[in-house]
Amino acid sequence: MSSPAFPDVLSATVQSIKPSATIAAATKAKELRDAGHDVLSFTLGEPDFTTPAHICDAAKAAMDAGQTHYTPAGGTPALRAAIAARYTADSGVETDASQVVASNGAKHSVHNALTALVGPGDEVLIPTPYWVSYSDLVAITGATPKMIETTQESGFTLQPKQLEAAITPQTKLLMLNSPCNPTGSVYPAELLRRLAEVCVDRDLFLLSDEIYGKLVYDGEEFVSVGSFSPEIRERTIVVDGVSKAYAMTGWRIGWTISSPPLAKAMEKLQSQETSCPSSISQAAAIAAVSGSQDCVAEMRAKFAERRRFVLDRLANIDGVEMATPTGAFYAFFDVSSFFGRPLGGGKTVSNATEFCTALLEAEQIALVTGDAFGAPGYVRMSYATDLATLGQGLDRLERFLAGGEPAGA
Ligand code: PMP
Ligand code: GLU
Repeated sequence: MSSPAFPDVLSATVQSIKPSATIAAATKAKELRDAGHDVLSFTLGEPDFTTPAHICDAAKAAMDAGQTHYTPAGGTPALRAAIAARYTADSGVETDASQVVASNGAKHSVHNALTALVGPGDEVLIPTPYWVSYSDLVAITGATPKMIETTQESGFTLQPKQLEAAITPQTKLLMLNSPCNPTGSVYPAELLRRLAEVCVDRDLFLLSDEIYGKLVYDGEEFVSVGSFSPEIRERTIVVDGVSKAYAMTGWRIGWTISSPPLAKAMEKLQSQETSCPSSISQAAAIAAVSGSQDCVAEMRAKFAERRRFVLDRLANIDGVEMATPTGAFYAFFDVSSFFGRPLGGGKTVSNATEFCTALLEAEQIALVTGDAFGAPGYVRMSYATDLATLGQGLDRLERFLAGGEPAGA
């Protein structure tokens, strides 16, 4: 008898994927902070606000009322109806509860949609820069992620011609994320419609990750892909959740809106994988989507203020380049002009990953490398934190880029 030979004994699937880079960066920053270092972390895309009181109250009431048991696999009828009503109100598209599958977070919903639709031999198109988990969630299904590069010049948007050129007989699905994590770009409605039409013409499914749909700024208008036409709706899986708009990352509730047969397939999957999302979190999510939306507007106003502050500061740093983000809560900027130049603490770096490591060591601020998002040369800074912390972080970043010695050195 011998001990199992890790990691070789692990499944090929698990060996082929990486840990989530955003979570890994946040964990490292937290460990350093817990060890007594003065680390400022701008890693995780997570609102710093506490979940609004009326939502927490709904969870407490659910517990007191004994709603502490399994629910139907795809969520309670009340939650599914509430999500359908929210989507109908926001998008103008009549939506039925049978199209909704509530899950353990939007990440889980992406997994559900991919697992229900693709497998070995299929190709999934992903425009870069992309949210870190997309490629590995595709890899878990055995399908092949195929990246399509978008550039800062196009505001990081995929163009219909690029999409057409990337389609092969194996292509089954396109993943779109507007507003985008990490770039903050919001696709103009007309461009989205044209991309969706290509999907219809070429028989592709379209996964539209709309988790940042309520977080747009500067008069930007968010339009759901599902609002364009019945043909597009038949082929679209809208992914959304309560994490970002309602500051509910820890409650773990997300959902898909799709055609009823696809919803049934995803519900079946969930009945085997997780049984159902937390009953208490579902009750909280009903309060979030059906209650007053003032809390969303209040948090958005705070994000808008922080965004303005961060963009103004970054615009004043020579050598930092970026496309103006109009959604989500990230600043995603090009730092490649600093490669090979002396930086703070006497460091020199040649890529974004080294840049983030050197920045953490010299100034104790944590960003996420663009390498994790398929965007070499870039770094991501989450501005979902208070202005004072952002100001301190930007002071340190500026000092690092100027090649100065860290404070107290
Ligand atoms: N999609 C995108 C683009 C995200 O940034 C996130 C952030 N976690 C998710 C999906 C998943 O959100 P959650 O699982 O917390 O609902
Ligand atoms: N989506 C967030 C981010 O990009 C949260 C972390 C995660 O779910 O990976 O930071």
